[in-house]
Amino acid sequence: MEKNEILVTYGKDIAAMAIRLAEEANLAELIGDSDKRIGLKPNLVVARPAPEGATTHPEIAAGLIAYLKKNNFHNLVLIEGAWAGASTAEAFTVCGYRKLARETGVELIDTKDDKTRSCDCKGMKIDICESALAIDFMINLPVMKGHCQTLLTCALKNNKGIIPDREKRRFHSLGLTKPIAHLNTVARNDFIVVDGICGDLDFEEGGNPVYAGRMFAARDPVLCDAWAAAQMGYSISDIPYIGLAEKLGVGSADLRSAKVRELKSGISMADGITDGMADGMADGAAMGSIPGGKVRQLAAYIAEDKACSACYASLIFALSHLSRSELGRLKEKVCVGQGFRGRQGGIGVGQCTAGFTASCPGCPPSGADILAFLKSQI
Ligand code: SF4
Repeated sequence: MEKNEILVTYGKDIAAMAIRLAEEANLAELIGDSDKRIGLKPNLVVARPAPEGATTHPEIAAGLIAYLKKNNFHNLVLIEGAWAGASTAEAFTVCGYRKLARETGVELIDTKDDKTRSCDCKGMKIDICESALAIDFMINLPVMKGHCQTLLTCALKNNKGIIPDREKRRFHSLGLTKPIAHLNTVARNDFIVVDGICGDLDFEEGGNPVYAGRMFAARDPVLCDAWAAAQMGYSISDIPYIGLAEKLGVGSADLRSAKVRELKSGISMADGITDGMADGMADGAAMGSIPGGKVRQLAAYIAEDKACSACYASLIFALSHLSRSELGRLKEKVCVGQGFRGRQGGIGVGQCTAGFTASCPGCPPSGADILAFLKSQI
């Protein structure tokens, strides 16, 4: 897998999706020496199960552990520290990681129990947990979700889990942007698998999951977060730590040079559609993801007919950026879904609504593209 690639997959079998991404990226070759100590770093910010939109699905780690063991990598650890004041031990239990560790024999490391070392992060001193610094190859497993201050949390911000609580508090006192960017000049991001199954719309602690059934892999955390921002309807300038991390040499935010490759998962139902995408958005409930009140309110502006999960999620993200008065100026409900193929109508998103008077192209379109389109219709 190249540094400028993003591999995307959709579906319901979360562990299988993670394995597919690892295989497609040729993760074993990226790691190299089988003696390396490999860390898997989920986001367990709070003790809430993954379907609530805050934490990484343990099936992703389970799939990757199975892949790694099959490829003779046995020096594996699961490493995380919950947000300041919360118990990682409780999160390990509630989020399914204690069970996973027991079943696989992989060590669980709570960074809150760790010693720290002061590191020079390109001009900013940051205390980092020693167990993280001892990792040879770090697999970052963030959730793509909203954040009340930084708007987005994904790969770069997920590394806050490898610093002690006192540093987490200092990060907040410094406004997050600068320290997050500097932290990632030292924190490892050797491979990233993003949990985009049902990340929260607004808050890192969950409660408003938006079911998208998506997972993607990257090697560049800056590019990864830039792409995630676009899916959630943001421009890179909305999330200043992405640009700052780029300036510090952490990676590239140039989406124009990114190679985004969508993995087909077997029988394609139509050009550009994977099985997983075609599974349909309504299945969010089947995955245990229960949309919160805000998502349900936004859904009132949508007419959906057999919409793929990712397309529907992009539309929800885009609608969430409109003010109440902008929402009120939408002339009609916005149509999305395969059921609109070949039909005529007013406002629609995705190639399935190409026959509409106004249609946002893409399959699925990004949240940013839909947002620009909706603003042009108001
Ligand atoms: S345009 Fe949207 S609903 Fe239609 S096939 Fe593509 S992703 Fe699915």
